Amino acid sequence: MTSPASGTDTAAALPDYAPVPRSALGPALNDQGYYVGRVERNLYWVTDGSYQSAFLTTKDGVVLFDAPPSIGGNIRRAVDEIASANGVSNKVTHLVYSHHHADHAGASSLFDKNVIRIGHEETKRLLLRDNDPARPAPEETFADRRTLKISGERIELAWRGPNHSPDNIYIHFPDHDALMLIDIVNPGWAPISIANLSEDIPGYVAAPAIALDYPWKHFIGGHVSRLGTRDDVTLHQQYMADIDASVRKALVSVDPTPFFQKYGDNPWAAVSALFDAWTEAGAAPVIEKYTGVLAAADVYTRSTTFWVMESIRLDLGFASYVHP
Ligand SMILES: [Zn+2]
Repeated sequence: MTSPASGTDTAAALPDYAPVPRSALGPALNDQGYYVGRVERNLYWVTDGSYQSAFLTTKDGVVLFDAPPSIGGNIRRAVDEIASANGVSNKVTHLVYSHHHADHAGASSLFDKNVIRIGHEETKRLLLRDNDPARPAPEETFADRRTLKISGERIELAWRGPNHSPDNIYIHFPDHDALMLIDIVNPGWAPISIANLSEDIPGYVAAPAIALDYPWKHFIGGHVSRLGTRDDVTLHQQYMADIDASVRKALVSVDPTPFFQKYGDNPWAAVSALFDAWTEAGAAPVIEKYTGVLAAADVYTRSTTFWVMESIRLDLGFASYVHP
């Protein structure tokens, strides 16, 4: 038996990456590990540096948007801090789910049974399926659009088709110049694994243009340590468009023949090596262009390129040939 490598050895063996650009970073966290800031007027956002949640203070209580478990108890602390500073109620009366994923909803059960939970009807279906006590299903649902009017505050919810998840919604605050759209654009950063772990790539790629159709100045993306701007969304769109163009080039320029010659009786080995070659050829120019522009472009562009490539092949039928 060999002894396990020490933590130091493991860390030393991990790859190095390009420095994170200053423009990707947000405000410092407090001693409890969170930052709460004003988006506009009575709309606030909370971050732990990786995740984001938002809330509106109203004359009758607080409307919360998402409850990421990594922020957890600090959501309550942030609400208490703002409510006491402004002399308004800290009672959370409503919780709106952006989508069903546990990493954005898993602290929902910290709020009591009297909270009214609101979400898309598919979010309800998925939460009932997943049956996770940390994420009670919403009692109030909608199909395509719903305008919430809570204590004089207006919030427009819209479902515009599947993207990152089947149930991900647009949360527009028309009186606060803000849009909340989770897990699509990470302001200042490349998307994480396979396009932010997206289930529907055509929907994921189309989402930023839908977001930009709304009037807003402040973007709450659900991740990273700062809010976004319209320029952040446009830059993300350009990044995804560059991946698309580059991978289409790779799909028609890397010849599959030698891969099948080499692995004749093992087609999975050929496919694996071919996917790697397509991905590498597609990702390389995008990594070069965006390193220093989007944080972690060198970390994650290959993974997203692979997933976009599979969507271009399988959803769009590009470079798909019918045997004669
Ligand atoms: Zn998600």
